Amino acid sequence: MTTIAEMQAEHSRWLSHNFPHQRNHEPLLGLMEEVGELAHAHLKSAQGIREIDAELDKVDAIGDIFIYLMSYCNSNGVDLEKAIAVTWDRVRTRDWQADPKKGGE
Ligand SMILES: [Mg+2]
Repeated sequence: MTTIAEMQAEHSRWLSHNFPHQRNHEPLLGLMEEVGELAHAHLKSAQGIREIDAELDKVDAIGDIFIYLMSYCNSNGVDLEKAIAVTWDRVRTRDWQADPKKGGE
């Protein structure tokens, strides 16, 4: 199975080939657009219209969000796998059931 770090390295090569002049804010705009697509899919589900499409659209948006996140990290010198691991190590210790106000911090 490909790790996030391996995928980010592959994305970096793909990015250099396809969009060598990408400015560092551009993938953030793409990321926000994809979050909007995910929200749109949820809206369709909540409204009970085109629900079959909505489920596929949610998965597609999630994949695109991750790809844009890799793009953002590659354009801004961030190790995505490390960022996730460091943050998850902090978040995983919180217990909002035991401490609803502070999560145990
Ligand atoms: Mg999309």
